[in-house]
Amino acid sequence: MKTILDKQRAAFKANPNPSLAQRLDWLDRLAGMISQNAQTISATISEDFGHRSTIETRLADIAALLTEIKHTKKHLGKWMQPEKRPTALQFKPARNEVRYMPKGVAGIISPWNYPFQLAISPLIAALSAGNRAMIKPSELTPRTSELTKKLLGEIFDEDLVAVITGGPDVAQAFSTLEFDHMLFTGSTKVGAFVMQAAAKNLTPVTLELGGKSPVIIDHDYALQTAAERILSGKMLNAGQTCIAPDYILAPRKSIKALSQKLAKTCRKFYPSIHDNDDFTAIISEGHYKRLSGLVDDARKKGANIIDIYPEEEKSDSNVRKMPPKLVTNVTPDMDIMQEEIFGPLLPLVPYDSLDDALEFVREREHPLALYLFSDNKIVVERTMNEALAGDMSVNDTLMHITQNDLPFGGVGKSGIGAYHGHDGFKTFSHAKGIFRQSKLNSRKMLFPPYGKAIERVLGFLS
Ligand code: NAD
Repeated sequence: MKTILDKQRAAFKANPNPSLAQRLDWLDRLAGMISQNAQTISATISEDFGHRSTIETRLADIAALLTEIKHTKKHLGKWMQPEKRPTALQFKPARNEVRYMPKGVAGIISPWNYPFQLAISPLIAALSAGNRAMIKPSELTPRTSELTKKLLGEIFDEDLVAVITGGPDVAQAFSTLEFDHMLFTGSTKVGAFVMQAAAKNLTPVTLELGGKSPVIIDHDYALQTAAERILSGKMLNAGQTCIAPDYILAPRKSIKALSQKLAKTCRKFYPSIHDNDDFTAIISEGHYKRLSGLVDDARKKGANIIDIYPEEEKSDSNVRKMPPKLVTNVTPDMDIMQEEIFGPLLPLVPYDSLDDALEFVREREHPLALYLFSDNKIVVERTMNEALAGDMSVNDTLMHITQNDLPFGGVGKSGIGAYHGHDGFKTFSHAKGIFRQSKLNSRKMLFPPYGKAIERVLGFLS
């Protein structure tokens, strides 16, 4: 790994600020590779998952990247332009500007849930900002990680982009390398290790982490509309999405009607589970057991488990598909209300007033995403202003991540920094402030020996 890093660093020194044409060529190569290999990528991810819906891969791992590349290509020239900044009267006619400089070599560590998208999306940002990059993808999707390595190897020299495969030991060693920026996507626990390792080198980090993303449904909001939009976000990738709605806060009087609508709508979206190509499997035996453990713990502590597909609960299929369940009567001490769920289980928590609901969110860690369903302008304004979260969608779920012009990232335990679009370009760039002195200037007034001239300057300044 160190040899590759040295090679990339040497290549960066030889070409410290790649031209727009060069960067556009890199992005074109990426887009071509993704389009030409879309089917192989989809089949490989599905093999790693045991089954991954092809449509979901085409949406989230293929189309999302192609759209992002298109957006970046369209705006990159503008993003790379020096930015003029005002100059205070006493310094005029000197000029100020900011130039966005490539930082050097970026390190990217990615998780398994969108194994192709989350390795390539940070790469788009890193390359558009003129950097070189090394990627360490997840060991839980080994076939996709090897494929990513092969495909990137076909379009980029190792001194521009390199993929390092391996388990947590390799990842740990990777995070100690002296990168110029590191972007980690994964759990909050591992994110803390990555930040510790990076601190030894003073490597700046962007941490894209997880957590429990709540949904708040306002008193008068149409429950059917909310149910559809919540389920479409929750059941994508079988709930294994960092910004999946984790639990719902709903008015106490609506819990019963809401759970009925959720169950009915879920059955409409997915008439069956085990033999349904649209429904994705759980990534590993370990994660399947973890999710079953959350259900057992909740049941033991008094929760009511609503099996939406009772007939599929005892399936002899050997595909790791978990039939979705709703969970009511939850209490804060249950594991399902403490850990990020990351699967097709959806707890419903009653609230009495919006203040209670906001308080419930505020007294927990800042979520990666917050969802509010409300048609009341005051409630929407209040929630946008008063609840701290990485990002937010109002009257929908997940949609904020698909917006090229919004920053994507967490806050507090759900992450540090952001990327996507212009924000990704800026994350991987150093904003260099530049003061350009003019021929005509009063600089001499500040020279020693200090006398009347500097007194006049001080009089003017203070
Ligand atoms: P994870 O933290 O277990 O692993 C992520 C990556 O870290 C893997 O490549 C792994 O090899 C590596 N790693 C493991 N130990 C390491 C160490 N000691 N030092 C450095 N790297 C190490 O996460 P996961 O299970 O792959 O992914 C699920 C988590 O990721 C969830 O919490 C989810 O919310 C979060 N996530 C966040 C986003 C986001 O954009 N914010 C996106 C997807 C997933």
